Amino acid sequence: MSSIQIRTEIPGPISQELMARRKKAVPQGPFHVSPIFAERAEGALIHDVDGNTFIDFASGIGVTNSGHNHPQIVAATKAQLEKYIHTSFNVVPYEPYVAVAEKLNALAPGNFEKKTFLANSGAEAVENAIKFARSHTKKQAIVCFDHAYHGRTYMAMTLTAKSVPYKHGFAPFNPEVYRAPFPYLYRWASGNSQDYDGDELNVCKEAFRAFKDVIECQIGADQVAGVIIEPVCGEGGFIPVPKPFMKLLENYCKEHHIVFMLDEIQTGFGRTGNFFAAQHYGVEPDLLILAKGLAGGMPLSAVTGRADILESAGVGGVGGTYCGNPVACAASLAVLDLYESTDAMEHCRMLGRELSQRLERWSREYEIVGDHRGLGPMRAVELVKNRSTKEPYKEAVGKIIKRSYENGVICIGAGTYGNVLRFLIPLTATPEQLHEGLDVVEAGIESLCPMQAIK
Ligand code: PMP
Repeated sequence: MSSIQIRTEIPGPISQELMARRKKAVPQGPFHVSPIFAERAEGALIHDVDGNTFIDFASGIGVTNSGHNHPQIVAATKAQLEKYIHTSFNVVPYEPYVAVAEKLNALAPGNFEKKTFLANSGAEAVENAIKFARSHTKKQAIVCFDHAYHGRTYMAMTLTAKSVPYKHGFAPFNPEVYRAPFPYLYRWASGNSQDYDGDELNVCKEAFRAFKDVIECQIGADQVAGVIIEPVCGEGGFIPVPKPFMKLLENYCKEHHIVFMLDEIQTGFGRTGNFFAAQHYGVEPDLLILAKGLAGGMPLSAVTGRADILESAGVGGVGGTYCGNPVACAASLAVLDLYESTDAMEHCRMLGRELSQRLERWSREYEIVGDHRGLGPMRAVELVKNRSTKEPYKEAVGKIIKRSYENGVICIGAGTYGNVLRFLIPLTATPEQLHEGLDVVEAGIESLCPMQAIK
């Protein structure tokens, strides 16, 4: 049976009315991908105020990994609401915060003593990770990468690579932030998407040389407090860090007493088919930065890592009124329990395999699909106007997204060049829902590019 139900023109009349109110009351800054207004959601489905049902391929930007309104998460959240909503951990502490910290300490890779600090948003966790790195090393410089996205507060925005729209008009940015090139395999390798893997080692060597140049020629290794990287660039276009490069970074950081920080805000909690993407790489970050999937949609973020690094901030040095809110912690404990007590991770991997096969086929059949890539179910296609020049086909992404929501699938774009279509499906989606949604997206691709087998 079909999951998608489209009963009105999209957007329907009530959504249109709400959009008119939104335009009057809310500034244009907070962008939205689709013009429909949510009424309720469950699993992989969002129902709008006009009675239409959509398959959600965005998960609220990679948050509802455990599905919308999972009954266990809702029950745990309600139970906590009945007890107390807020006391502030800085005033009267409570057990759910400690329990989340204990679980994350146990789950994070690395056989060393760990501690966890909780905050509210991803950006806030990034800010705090930088504070820990600086107070621990007593050094200042932070190295980040091209194509990075770390959030919108001033430090997180400074670390973010893309100017428009994230940084445009908001200068000046924070000092002592340096940017190194990111080994973007598809765009660095000489071959096209089907045969670039052979270039991986050379690309990694080149990128590592450039990284060392940034440090050794511009900063001085003894001045660097931390290196921050996403295992798979999220907003930057779902570009996985090639494995050898990640290992080179980890080793360099170890050698030079630099805090190695992985921003797993988008890659965590099953999104890449492992609990954390770090596990794909076999690395042990000093600090793991978490948010999104951590609490199933409640605002919660975390910095988990080496105890001595987290202990370097003095009493009262980090914190905040809402940091580690008890209702968000209760939701998080339910999320973590779902991974522990069910075969959720196996389901994530199965979705990843299905998605990978489908996108691989698209890259063979549709000229505009220049690359398909990702880790587990965190996957994307990069659209190009010409496979040889790899000229980005940004307009196609907008058209496909619009055509998709009009036909019952919510999906989102990404990419420094705006030409990536990314899939962030709730990781509880059934294979039938996945393929029904992909049929809609594929029709959008096909409408721009008549099917054409590439020899
Ligand atoms: N880092 C990464 C890798 C992200 O994907 C995001 C959010 N897209 C952030 C940081 C910022 O998180 P938040 O929006 O919760 O501040």
